[in-house]
Amino acid sequence: MIKVSKYQNINGITCYMNSILHILQYISPLINYINNDSYLNIVNEKNKTKKWIIVELAKLFKLSYNNPNNIICPIRFRNCIGIHDGRWLDNEQQDSSDFLEFLLSKIQEEVGVNTFKIPRFEIYSNNPITSIKQISAYKSYLNFYSKEYSPIKKIFTSFNKYNKICGTCNNQSIRYEPNNILQLAIPDKCNNIYDCFSHLTQLSKMNDYNCEFCGNKTFCYDRTTLWLLPQILIISLKRFDNFMRKNKTNIDYPIDNLNLSNYFDNETPHNKNNSYELIAVNLHYSNSGIHSGHYVSIVKCHDKWILFNDENPVQEVDNPQCNDAYILFYKLNN
Ligand SMILES: [Zn+2]
Repeated sequence: MIKVSKYQNINGITCYMNSILHILQYISPLINYINNDSYLNIVNEKNKTKKWIIVELAKLFKLSYNNPNNIICPIRFRNCIGIHDGRWLDNEQQDSSDFLEFLLSKIQEEVGVNTFKIPRFEIYSNNPITSIKQISAYKSYLNFYSKEYSPIKKIFTSFNKYNKICGTCNNQSIRYEPNNILQLAIPDKCNNIYDCFSHLTQLSKMNDYNCEFCGNKTFCYDRTTLWLLPQILIISLKRFDNFMRKNKTNIDYPIDNLNLSNYFDNETPHNKNNSYELIAVNLHYSNSGIHSGHYVSIVKCHDKWILFNDENPVQEVDNPQCNDAYILFYKLNN
């Protein structure tokens, strides 16, 4: 008998929300942070009477742990997020990836405090050009983390490096940008997740580039590389196009060892331990677009793979590999 609780569907449309909650309540760094209760001082100091999402989330997760084998209705939580963004109270299917992005950025913002003291990042290189790039990346982290810093901001944040090389003067224009969720496009020929990463990091040629350095309207070479990956890596497969049509390509993904070393930038100091293990998968069952279908999740709990479907009892499954995979959750192997 598996001792886990389950969230109840509200009005037949909240599977996008429940499927994400079923995963988040088993992400240990997030749960450790929530259980520590230190965020309460921060939010109470900001505003004692405000409806804080993190407070409702913590109540919901505590209720779930204390009542294994029960079905819990997340109506208070839903009402709370609905105050912050009305679309979560609409009786319509939503995108689970949009909901996850909303929830993570909202709780990070709520418990964040402005600070200049953030945990250090290492910068080291014997090559001065590399060092300059590392310092410029470090400034990007400082800008990002010092605004509304909290320990949970670091759990999920990755940084990509975006490099544009002018086709006329070869000047490089570099940006480092944070993400909670790594969005991966699915290339035409795609068998596995590594094909998506190759596609993300390949050099491509872009026309209509205005170079700020030489002032020419010209072309450029464009390249994205990984700069820093977080403790919990969330990968969302871009299965829906602008017309909300679904790409049903079957994509294999590793369970024990996702290794992304090949997709890092040559100059990053953060490409050391990049082996990840799968901890959960969010699935979208449907033949058609994003506004129909059903979301469920397969989550690793107590070393078993458990299928959480808010329309059925929880069930143990042999394998978390599934054609309907939409969002993958990986944890850094220590
Ligand atoms: Zn130029």
